[in-house]
Amino acid sequence: MKKYFLLCSLLLVIGCQTYKQKSPNIVFFLVDDHAFKALSAYEGSLIETPNLDRIANSGMRFDAACVTNAICAPSRTVILTGTHSHINGVVDNGSRFDSTQPTFPLLMQEAGYQTALIGKWHLKSNPVGFDYWDILNGQGQYYAPEFMKSVDGSEPVKRILEGYCTDLTTDLTIDWLGEKRNKDKPFLLLCHHKAPHRSWMPGPNQLELFADTEFPEPETLFDDWKGRASPASTQEMTISDHMYLWHDLMVPPEEGTTLEGPDKWAQVNLDRMSDLQRTAWDETFNPENDAFIKSDLKGDDLTRWKYQRYMKNYLRCIKGIDENVGRLLDYLEENDLNENTIVVYMSDQGFFLGEHGWYDKRFMYEPCLRIPLLISWPGIIDNGSTTEALVQNLDLAQTILAMAGIDAPTLMQGESLVPILKGETQTCRDALYYHYYEFPGVHNVQRHEGVRTNQYKIIHYYEIDEWELFDFKTDPTEMKNLYNDPQYADVQNDLKRKLDSLKIKYEVPRT
Ligand code: CA
Repeated sequence: MKKYFLLCSLLLVIGCQTYKQKSPNIVFFLVDDHAFKALSAYEGSLIETPNLDRIANSGMRFDAACVTNAICAPSRTVILTGTHSHINGVVDNGSRFDSTQPTFPLLMQEAGYQTALIGKWHLKSNPVGFDYWDILNGQGQYYAPEFMKSVDGSEPVKRILEGYCTDLTTDLTIDWLGEKRNKDKPFLLLCHHKAPHRSWMPGPNQLELFADTEFPEPETLFDDWKGRASPASTQEMTISDHMYLWHDLMVPPEEGTTLEGPDKWAQVNLDRMSDLQRTAWDETFNPENDAFIKSDLKGDDLTRWKYQRYMKNYLRCIKGIDENVGRLLDYLEENDLNENTIVVYMSDQGFFLGEHGWYDKRFMYEPCLRIPLLISWPGIIDNGSTTEALVQNLDLAQTILAMAGIDAPTLMQGESLVPILKGETQTCRDALYYHYYEFPGVHNVQRHEGVRTNQYKIIHYYEIDEWELFDFKTDPTEMKNLYNDPQYADVQNDLKRKLDSLKIKYEVPRT
């Protein structure tokens, strides 16, 4: 009997070890509005991001990772559910996510993973499928943000935390890893950063960066949008005319000025700072603001100044992300967690950093359609791998489930990227489907759908029946609309056929 007991105990121990080996931990970084031009693992980056590069250097960099709908809440929902917006119901930022839908965290929780979510959520409903969540309330604030915490389904508790949101999100994440999780179970940990979302308020550690840096202007900063379909001209997202001096660019108004639009919220954001934080802020911005006001810039010179101020603050926010991702990677290494932990880093969509004269996202153009996507998986992915496979945010749910050895439900519409990660294939799909819905809405970007291959892109602004066709291999800045160009007739017909067949495949309602 005693021998039998010992044998059973031994088998149990071996079983547990095998289980542990087969069930990797997963840390999933989701960052809000990070353009791939601001990550130095990618070519042509505006800044160095040495800590984010650590993920690329020990894993795989995806060079053609795109979204299905380049806007925050819809993309986040696609990532969680593995279904297109018309299936999961979050078509625009006004939609409420039915968070009881099957998501990869919920399925992993049911399969025995310990699941935690820390940072930005912003899907209107409370998270489901997490043993522990501690999220920013709504959009969240950069300074002294309000967090909401729930443990094992408890009623959420709100509290304001002193500090800067990127630092705080990391502190809470490390605290969960070190003090709150059950160390006998594999974990899925979602670390979702608010930064670098508008209004690009840098943290105390990054305020002094780039003081004397002049960032290169994109060649299309003064685009006149001629030759493109009309939505390129009717949008309201230009750096020149649609950026707010106080809210977006940190220049306070003269006393007695009537505040309009987002400028009404600027003071509220600043009032959240401690005296020490506010002093550092003023020391950074006041001298530059005084010089700016005296200079009385106009026209293109004013746009150039706005671009530089925008870039400095946006990129300072990214440097804050880089520093904090580094802290978390260090924690994994120092606590012997790195060998069995997969790290995923991605953004919910790209962002215009002055291309076509714009900020924001929404369009199916490359700067916001494409996202940075880095995945490290020790022992599986060759260090420093890259792939040009055409992948989407749609694929992450199935990929993470597959990495954890869990079957994905058939309703998910993406592809598992595991064969690519293992080097077994270099292809995923020959064409992707995109659909943007938020019109009428902020920034005034018309609804559109389209198809992108590895060379071409066709876009249909279907409510006004206008089309664009780009060959971004020969025209990477997408300035030349080739729609109805006889030389591209075959390409155009082929892309239209692909659009029709993808709409059938994904069960898209008729537009
Ligand atoms: Ca976003």
